[in-house]
Amino acid sequence: MKEQTIWCEKCGEKLNPSKAVWLELSMTDGKYYNQIPDGHDSQGAFSFGKACAKTQLKINEQPTLHNYYLGWNALCDSKMDESTNS
Ligand SMILES: [Zn+2]
Repeated sequence: MKEQTIWCEKCGEKLNPSKAVWLELSMTDGKYYNQIPDGHDSQGAFSFGKACAKTQLKINEQPTLHNYYLGWNALCDSKMDESTNS
């Protein structure tokens, strides 16, 4: 079987499949994990170059922009609730 061509999810670089790092994306918090935490819904595994995988996991540890968006979404949801109620 011919080897699948894969690209880095982060920078788009073509990857050697034997060197690619696979991280799993959680639908629960939108973060990538080496191993998805218990109770998280997985959106599937994505390939990264070694350096990009490292960077991506580092981003996860910080208070991210994504968390800001989660807060923003929550705000929007409550706004939607208000308009449905009235
Ligand atoms: Zn990359």
